Amino acid sequence: MNDIRVPEIKTVAAPEGIEGAGFFATSLEKVVGIARANSLWPLPFATSCCGIEFMATMGAHYDISRFGSERPSFSPRQADLLMVMGTIAKKMAPIVKQVYEQMAEPRWVLAMGACACSGGIFDSYSVLQGIDRIIPVDVYVPGCPPRPEQVLDGLMRVQDLARNESMRRRNSPEYQALLESYNIK
Ligand code: SF4
Repeated sequence: MNDIRVPEIKTVAAPEGIEGAGFFATSLEKVVGIARANSLWPLPFATSCCGIEFMATMGAHYDISRFGSERPSFSPRQADLLMVMGTIAKKMAPIVKQVYEQMAEPRWVLAMGACACSGGIFDSYSVLQGIDRIIPVDVYVPGCPPRPEQVLDGLMRVQDLARNESMRRRNSPEYQALLESYNIK
C-alpha cells in the first residue's frame, strides 16, 4: 500500500479571551482583526517586471491562497491591499493616487520592488522616486525583483498590521493628519 503523507494543517490561533465550560469571550476588535488579516484582497497595480514575480507568487508553487489572498481585485472598491509593483512614471502617479482614493477603508499599501519603493535604478526626470511621494505606504518589499518568498513575507507583515489594528485607528487625528499630508480627503 502506498504511504500517503498528509501535510500538517495549521489553523489560525484563537484570539486572547476568557474561556470556560461552554463559552469563550473575546473582543470584537480581535475577531475582526483575524478576519481582515486572513482575507486581504490585493489589487495588483503591476507596471513592469515585478508584476511577473507577483504572478509567480499567485501560482501553485507559492500559492498565495494559503493566506486568503487568492482573489485579486481589479476594482479598487473591492480591494483591501494595494500592491504597487514596477516602475511608476510621473505621468502614471495621479492614476495610482486615484486608485488608492477609490479604495474603501481600511486599506493597506505594499510597495513591491526597488522601483515602487524608491524609483530603483531609474533616477531620471520621468520616474517617481518611490510611491510614498504620493500615497502612504505600509510595507516595503526591497529587491529587484524581490523573490516570491519576499512578497509573501511582505503580505504577512501586512497581515500583522491588519490583525493588530485598532478599529478606531482610521478615525484618529493621527491618521487624518497622515492623509492630509498627502492631500487626500
Ligand atoms: S524593481 Fe527591478 S524587477 Fe522590479 S520593476 Fe523595477 S527594474 Fe523591474
